[in-house]
Amino acid sequence: MADGKVQEAGASPEQQGEFSDRVRGLRGLEHVRKEHVQWKFVYHRMQSEYDREDPKYRVAKKLYRVAEQVRADLTRQGIDQSVMLRNENALRVEGVIYAIYCTRGKELYIGQTSGSAFTRFQSHYWACKAGNKPLYKRMKRYGWRRFYTVPLEYIPAELYHASNSTERVRNFRRIATPRELFWMEKLHTYVPRGLNVKGAQRNRHRKGRKGRARWRRLQKPQSDLEQSKLQLQEGVVSLPSSPDVPFSDHAGVIPAYGRIFGYRDYVRRVSYLAHLWNMGMLHTVKLVKYADRNLWKMTRVLDAAQSTMNPEATKAILSMLRAYLMVRPQVQTEKPNGRRCIMLAWKSRELRRVPLRMIMTQPKIIAHLPPEVRPQVEDVRVVRRLIPPIGKLIFNYSKVARDLQRDDLNEADCPCRQLFDERFRPEQGCVLTGDVNIVRLCGLRQLLMYGPRFRVRMDAEPMAALSSALDEFIARLSAGLAVDKAMFAIWRRKVLAACQTRIRSHSIASRGAKHHVLSGKMQKYLRFLHKHLVLVPVDKASNNVAFVCRRKYVEALQTELSSTGEASGDAYVSAVESVTDIVGRHKRELSKCHLFDSDKLAYLYWLPKMHKRPVSQRFIAGSASCTTTSLSKVLSDVLNFVLRALRARDDDHIGRTGVRRFFVVNGYEDVADFLARWQRSPDTAFHHTRHLHTGDFSTMYTTIPHDDLIRCLKLALKEAWTWGAELTKVDVKEVAIQCGGGDVKWVRTRALCAANGYHSKSSHRLNLDGLISLVSFLVSNTYLVNGGQLRRQAVGIPMGTNCAPPIANLYLYAYESSFIDKLMAHCLAEARGFHMTFRLIDDVLSVDNIHWVKYRSLSAEEGGIYPRALTLNDTNVSVREVHFLGMSISSNAGALRLNVFDKRKEFPFRVRRYPHMQSMIPTSIPYGVFVGQLHRYYRICTTWRDFVKHAQLLAETLVRQGCRWRRLQEKYRSFIALRGRTLRWGVRSVLISHALRATRGAVSQPG
Ligand SMILES: [Zn+2]
Repeated sequence: MADGKVQEAGASPEQQGEFSDRVRGLRGLEHVRKEHVQWKFVYHRMQSEYDREDPKYRVAKKLYRVAEQVRADLTRQGIDQSVMLRNENALRVEGVIYAIYCTRGKELYIGQTSGSAFTRFQSHYWACKAGNKPLYKRMKRYGWRRFYTVPLEYIPAELYHASNSTERVRNFRRIATPRELFWMEKLHTYVPRGLNVKGAQRNRHRKGRKGRARWRRLQKPQSDLEQSKLQLQEGVVSLPSSPDVPFSDHAGVIPAYGRIFGYRDYVRRVSYLAHLWNMGMLHTVKLVKYADRNLWKMTRVLDAAQSTMNPEATKAILSMLRAYLMVRPQVQTEKPNGRRCIMLAWKSRELRRVPLRMIMTQPKIIAHLPPEVRPQVEDVRVVRRLIPPIGKLIFNYSKVARDLQRDDLNEADCPCRQLFDERFRPEQGCVLTGDVNIVRLCGLRQLLMYGPRFRVRMDAEPMAALSSALDEFIARLSAGLAVDKAMFAIWRRKVLAACQTRIRSHSIASRGAKHHVLSGKMQKYLRFLHKHLVLVPVDKASNNVAFVCRRKYVEALQTELSSTGEASGDAYVSAVESVTDIVGRHKRELSKCHLFDSDKLAYLYWLPKMHKRPVSQRFIAGSASCTTTSLSKVLSDVLNFVLRALRARDDDHIGRTGVRRFFVVNGYEDVADFLARWQRSPDTAFHHTRHLHTGDFSTMYTTIPHDDLIRCLKLALKEAWTWGAELTKVDVKEVAIQCGGGDVKWVRTRALCAANGYHSKSSHRLNLDGLISLVSFLVSNTYLVNGGQLRRQAVGIPMGTNCAPPIANLYLYAYESSFIDKLMAHCLAEARGFHMTFRLIDDVLSVDNIHWVKYRSLSAEEGGIYPRALTLNDTNVSVREVHFLGMSISSNAGALRLNVFDKRKEFPFRVRRYPHMQSMIPTSIPYGVFVGQLHRYYRICTTWRDFVKHAQLLAETLVRQGCRWRRLQEKYRSFIALRGRTLRWGVRSVLISHALRATRGAVSQPG
């Protein structure tokens, strides 16, 4: 009725939506208004719903089906349930276990009553106004009319007959309570899946009652009452099994386990799985639907029940459960979809005021487009092309490293000693600092404070940027859809006009376009800095600038280039050929595969590791555009695909054996998700195994011998190819990997004519030999030009190229997997101990593995894990605490606690991170960073207090950098709200959604 009236008044669709929302809200409050409920009709509605052959709601269908089975069981055992039949006014039957279901939330509530199900529903209705139980909250939210009551089971009156009514009710409870609990278990009606509360919470809700019930753990039955309850319960657990069900054999062992493993009926679940195994249907079980903690309990029950259950069934179920629990969760990465985009050059801050997408798709504006184009425009995504950051202007490391000019000065005569203050020169040596105060010119210092990713405003004309973006968009769209450009003319004019009003109405008088990022004075000072210092990003804190004495920088680079590798002679050897020879050869070789696109060669440079004492160097091959860049990109895609294949193969292997051979992880997510799910054994016998270890390979990239590398890669690739052949069901020789168009996959291919596979401009198809030959080409053709001198990397792989990480991963994988294979052959238990090993390129983490220390100190030749050429350093804080991939993992009281590890603490200066609002970027970027980090914190933190603490710190930092509190708070609250009523820590979301507000006063917002 109300909706109809609004429509007559001609309100806009938005207003209507708002109104109907309000109506919906009011519906839940019906009971507040004094209304006369016609219970007669309510009863008829519910009873006729009960009497229907095919219930209307799915939840009811399921409920009736389960109830019928159990009633049949009960009837067989002599407890007659015929009063529960349809068309027998079952809702009026007294002394029942009943269910209440909600047609909206699909949740169930189970209760017992010595009255009838319907009268009990009525009393729930009267109580729900003041009550705070989950059921009452739901009734208030959805309106009580959306709830139906159903009697599930009849408890015959002669069972609890007594002379007075108190005694009678008490007797009834003794019988009904276990039955009620049985139904709760059976139908999983505990919060949050259902509306029943349990344990301590339940007692709290029931504190008004006499003889408070304690059902939490039935370990020590004390009173007669509890004893009798337990006996009943023991009977109850075996009730649902009928004589023809094979797992009723285990009924005898059930009570004992019930006592050990708490109340919830894990034995029933395990027996159910055994039953399925018996029927040959174990594979149909969907373990995803179980809570992880229940699966862990089930494995423990199985371990304990091994002697009483069929050993084969136990083995099959255990291996299924373990395979599920031990496989590391895959991190899903979303591919960009094929939406159309409009590229907007982001050259003016005024563009922040223009909601371009909204304007383009406004109904009255989009109406000017031909109808066939509209859906394309409606689906548009605005992509902002940002101006380059200031990094390119201020850094000079690349030029210094390429030129490599050395002044023949003694260290003591270095000009930097006179020019710069002592505090920037550690140990009275040359300049090496991350402190921007070294810059005396105020304007330049401010700019450097913002960091190299800062984008300086250059107020170009915003309208020009908009119109050119639109022109480009229209050109692409009209070409794609074969529509005349003229059809867009009116739309374009309208869009631009709407944009114009936004800009003009907010714009202050034009400030005068600024054409140079740096003023003349700043440029002059920067030239002075560049003459004596090298400005270079800091390792692991790349938004910070380090200042290094030029002489010192060059010296360190030369030392590295002429260094002798530990394993086999020099890492870099002078090449005989000239630069043009090399480029020519590369061009000849790579053009065949359409993989040549630049005739430059790479060069070596280094970044200071400011978090180490003393400061050390990270050497990187600058190869953003060099002869092998394309090759490296393709190989990186293919090898990462190979790693995924090996991982899939390993997941399969774990299921069968419980042994992990693949230690590689893709990032902190793998580790955090897995450890969050992992439960350490509570058995005290395993306490001595609780050790955490981390390590890293210090100079891995320059110590891997080439011949060993190729040998290992061949092994790993062959293994992957066997898996590929299994998947595609063809012979190994006919399997190839196809890569192109952002997609990599196994394909079947006939014998390839070319040795390197098949290549075209857009796609590459590689067989095993082709891939190996390309990898060895890349590895043996890493050339570096520094100071005009050509060197070849003879040991190790070039750090900084795209495919270095997967190559390193595969190399170490070959060693790890063969180590585990050997271990499996003579001691399976030891091999299983390694399943908690994680490695990301050169960082290793080992959890609760007593054998780790023994085998990591041995080299592969002596029966250990890793080759002698590499040294694995211990990086533990202690055996109870380690830092790994930005996480701090600590072990206390048996549990693993994960927290975000703040690397900034390791640096001697204040680390600048996250974009600054003063930068020439859309406002959405810093807030996007905020949400991104919240995701990271949420995944890592095991306690919600840690999460809140880090969120607060982050919000404070962002506010200092110009973000608005209110908007950050909105983002935070919607992040929490998205995760539903209960967060992963089991706390109510309301609790922490207000937490950010607390610190607001602490930070003042900049003007
Ligand atoms: Zn110096």
